[in-house]
Amino acid sequence: MPRTRLANLIDGRLQGPLDDHWIDVHEPATGAVFAQCPDSTAADVHAAVYAAQRAAPGWGATSTDERARLINRLADLLEARLDEFAALESRDSGKPVALARRLDIPRAVSNLRFFAAAIVAWESQSHAMEAGAINYTLRHPLGVVGCISPWNLPLYLFTWKIAPALATGNAVVAKPSEITPCTAALLGELSIEAGFPPGVLNIVQGRGPTTGQAIVEHPVIKAISFTGSTRTGASIAATAAPQFKKISLELGGKNPAIVFADADLTDEHMNTIVRSGFSNQGEICLCGSRLLVQRSIYENFRECYLAKVQALRVGDPQDTSSDLGAVVSREHFDKVMRCIAQAREEGGRILCGGDAIKLGGRCADGWFIAPTVIEGLANDALTNQQEIFGPVVTLIPFDDDAEAIALANGTGYGLAASLWTRDLSRAHRLGAQLEFGIVWINCWLLRDLRTPFGGSKQSGVGREGGVEALRFFTEPRNICIHY
Ligand code: NAD
Repeated sequence: MPRTRLANLIDGRLQGPLDDHWIDVHEPATGAVFAQCPDSTAADVHAAVYAAQRAAPGWGATSTDERARLINRLADLLEARLDEFAALESRDSGKPVALARRLDIPRAVSNLRFFAAAIVAWESQSHAMEAGAINYTLRHPLGVVGCISPWNLPLYLFTWKIAPALATGNAVVAKPSEITPCTAALLGELSIEAGFPPGVLNIVQGRGPTTGQAIVEHPVIKAISFTGSTRTGASIAATAAPQFKKISLELGGKNPAIVFADADLTDEHMNTIVRSGFSNQGEICLCGSRLLVQRSIYENFRECYLAKVQALRVGDPQDTSSDLGAVVSREHFDKVMRCIAQAREEGGRILCGGDAIKLGGRCADGWFIAPTVIEGLANDALTNQQEIFGPVVTLIPFDDDAEAIALANGTGYGLAASLWTRDLSRAHRLGAQLEFGIVWINCWLLRDLRTPFGGSKQSGVGREGGVEALRFFTEPRNICIHY
């Protein structure tokens, strides 16, 4: 089968890597190579940065209306090819095509439209002083910024970064994950069709330690917006700090879902609790991988929960009836399987799953893992402390509010939590005590793009979303006039 070769987008032109080195891109459902992406070097990054540097002043001076028009045009072009993008995202990442069609690609369209609208509605600040003076605050684009995104929600997270960066008038050098490079490459082609001036959006494909590192190190790049693992985030922070670059780091999580005995466990809520563990094969940073359940309902809840988990269909991502597809790579498959083995060694009881799944036909060599539920491990067991990022959930009983909070907060991460209760005052009280950037009460993954998004502790630094992103990508300048 002929393999597609993806291109970099540099200075408005699609081009291969200067060194002509390529990375194989696998289809997780089959294990086969179906494309190749540029294995770009620092030289490609330099070319992109200098194109961006040339484009930045003009783009920064372009009216917000015009910037919004181009971003909306890109959204329209993407939406018109939604099915094609969804199929490609599914093929590249292993996620069910139905999920890509329902979540990933529509959300990428929304990200673009949201920031196109946000920039024209953004208010400037002024502060009047009693002593006959007034301050007003200008917000300038930073110039050239870097956006680096992971493989789990490829286009969704890529657009979540480039949309506010472009809307605020910056020229962008962006790098998607080398594991899932396809949809970002295709979006780059659409950006040419949309009419973005050359150099405003540059996409350099390649590996983290080379291409990514070259973006982070480049002195012309003023800010790095990064989503990925905590380990990479720490390395980016160390590189960026001596250059005083702005950084926004959205990192890993070990999120609790807390179910109280008084929770309204309707079928719909139970389905959401199951989804919160296993959507996208558990490869969403917001997935609740530690399920804390009040002891008085623990056994009944476990029975009902397991029945639902066992009913999940792991299948070919192209099949619209599959609930879970393949995990993203052979390496990640091995990691998740090692984590399950470790849970066994720590004394965990596997209540369901625990094995790889062998499908037949075209998926015979794919990387499929059965949804796995484990109990019997203390909160400080490695299984309950390390991010697994796969279809693995642990069950932990608790007795009261204090224990629930202690267990939930007993992690080095602080990204997201969900809380299930009918007691309104408990919801407010515990919501405020949970040390997580995002707390959902009686829901999960209900997203309003205006709200601050991000985590604390080892889950990151800074927030994305709404005005937080607009602020991140701009430099404030306060003017004080005495009259
Ligand atoms: P990763 O850190 O391995 O890679 C993320 C991106 O960084 C990729 O594009 C990669 O090429 C690049 N990269 C790697 N090393 C680099 C370096 N030294 N310098 C610059 N760039 C580098 O993460 P991943 O495995 O792709 O993604 C999974 C992780 O992302 C999980 O930990 C997950 O929790 C996290 N994540 C967090 C959020 C959030 O919003 N907090 C969202 C999605 C995923």
